[in-house]
Amino acid sequence: MNISRYKTYCLECKTLISDIQKSFIIDNSRPQSFCSEKCVEKFYQNEIHDFQEQEKELRREFQIFEIHSVDEDTLRNYRQESLLDPDEIWEDSNPINEKYYYLLKSYPYEDSILTNITICKMFNEKPSFIFHSFFTSSTDLINSYKLGKKVKGLEEGEKGYQKEQFVLPQEILDEIAVRKNECFAQMLVHRKETDISFETFPLYEQFIKKTLDDPDEIYEEIVDGYTIHTMFKTNFYENKAFSHYVIGMKVMNGKEEVLLPIFSFPTIDEELLAIYNQGKRIFKKAIN
Ligand SMILES: [Zn+2]
Repeated sequence: MNISRYKTYCLECKTLISDIQKSFIIDNSRPQSFCSEKCVEKFYQNEIHDFQEQEKELRREFQIFEIHSVDEDTLRNYRQESLLDPDEIWEDSNPINEKYYYLLKSYPYEDSILTNITICKMFNEKPSFIFHSFFTSSTDLINSYKLGKKVKGLEEGEKGYQKEQFVLPQEILDEIAVRKNECFAQMLVHRKETDISFETFPLYEQFIKKTLDDPDEIYEEIVDGYTIHTMFKTNFYENKAFSHYVIGMKVMNGKEEVLLPIFSFPTIDEELLAIYNQGKRIFKKAIN
């Protein structure tokens, strides 16, 4: 006779959980099962409320009254992106050592930034239950949620591709800044209203590596003595095709020549492609 010695019950409703594989475990620091998402929500309803109230209290304390004009769809995308690839993750514990996570991700917004703060539980390094999520441009408010220890994120002064610790001469840094401004200005002139909106650009940064590693086409041009490569790749985001552009400058890193990305953007406008594909085409992917 096969006796099941240990039985598992839903932490909320106490229903017997017959198949643990199908149960909901949301907390590494408290690995107990729930029978359904509904029970998870019920179990944590007080804490959901507490985190909502905390935000209100902090806003009152810091006198922060914000109105953002970003549309709901964009905010929804931002929220999703924050869960998939946050800039920073902070891990904090309550007095009985249960873990809480604070996910932060920033997006450019008008002249400043808009940061999404998500308070959640994590299981197997992925967000498993969200208590609260909101947006702010206030540094005071953002800093109030950097709690415990930072388990993901760049150190002060580090920025994206500088991760590999390039030490570049000032002359090259100046050239990059000039090129970057030119690329941006050029785009403002030619970009159509119907194209992908600026506000969503950060959502497309995840494609930079793909485009660099496996471009569809590469163009080369010499500008002021520097070799500029423009490359693009057709990608898909939310099932929609778009062209992702990366403009990079060749620089020497020690004895090695590397391509430093200086500007990137997504577009669905074929006319814009014609404008950016400057110089000599040095690569075209064979179509199978
Ligand atoms: Zn239950």
